[in-house]
Amino acid sequence: MYVLIDDKGRKRFVQGSDEDKEFVIDKNKLEASLGRPIKIGGKRFLVLEASLLDIIESIERKAQIVLPKDSAIVIFNLALKSGDVVVEGGIGSGALTIALSHFVGTEGNVVSYELREDFAGIARKNLERAGFEKRVQIKIADITKDIEEKDVDSVVLDLPKPWEAVENAHKALKPGGHFCSLSPNSSQVTKTVDELRRLDFAEVNTLESMQRTMLVQDGWMRPDKMLAHTCYITFARKTVEGFN
Ligand code: SAH
Repeated sequence: MYVLIDDKGRKRFVQGSDEDKEFVIDKNKLEASLGRPIKIGGKRFLVLEASLLDIIESIERKAQIVLPKDSAIVIFNLALKSGDVVVEGGIGSGALTIALSHFVGTEGNVVSYELREDFAGIARKNLERAGFEKRVQIKIADITKDIEEKDVDSVVLDLPKPWEAVENAHKALKPGGHFCSLSPNSSQVTKTVDELRRLDFAEVNTLESMQRTMLVQDGWMRPDKMLAHTCYITFARKTVEGFN
């Protein structure tokens, strides 16, 4: 995937290949090399490879998606790496799934449990567009009922009643495996943490990430926009015997 960026930073996706130095936008051919400014109708443009942020910002969405300010922290705390197996529930529009599947790489696998066919369909389309469909297996099933996978590296929950899936997560994780749950409301967090403590998870902690962008001008700077509350994020690690 590639993006065409104008001088105001606006982006549009373009098809094409860097090898042929030829891209297509609205059926018009465009000759360009990646990163080298081109002129169209007197205006300057750049063609760049679409970044993970570009892909996530442009996905078709139905439910609230996990934003990069949150998925970035999830990935670091899960210590996600190439080859990891991650179980996710539910998939929604697949924004978090795209971030997870980027980091597990071609050797890794994301298994996503989703109750609703319509969400699975939207997510599948978004994953195909991002080129990650081969790394993701979508199961139309209730993650609070069962997780079939065993010895997985991480379990990530983004659903209304995460506490109902904590016991299944414990069974599915390998010892030391990483648990994560994202919830907008505090009552979801306390119920989930109660369950994590009951089941002998270690390093249980909850955080919230806020992101403020800065307006930087000639010689001065001030805070610009603030992305504040989206969700609380709870992390934990599976232990085999009690530790708390
Ligand atoms: N993380 C997603 C958004 C998830 S929205 C994103 O970034 O796009 C929550 C999803 O969980 C919905 O699609 C809902 O259908 C699904 N869901 C709710 N309860 C579930 C359950 N028990 N098992 C599996 N999926 C569930």
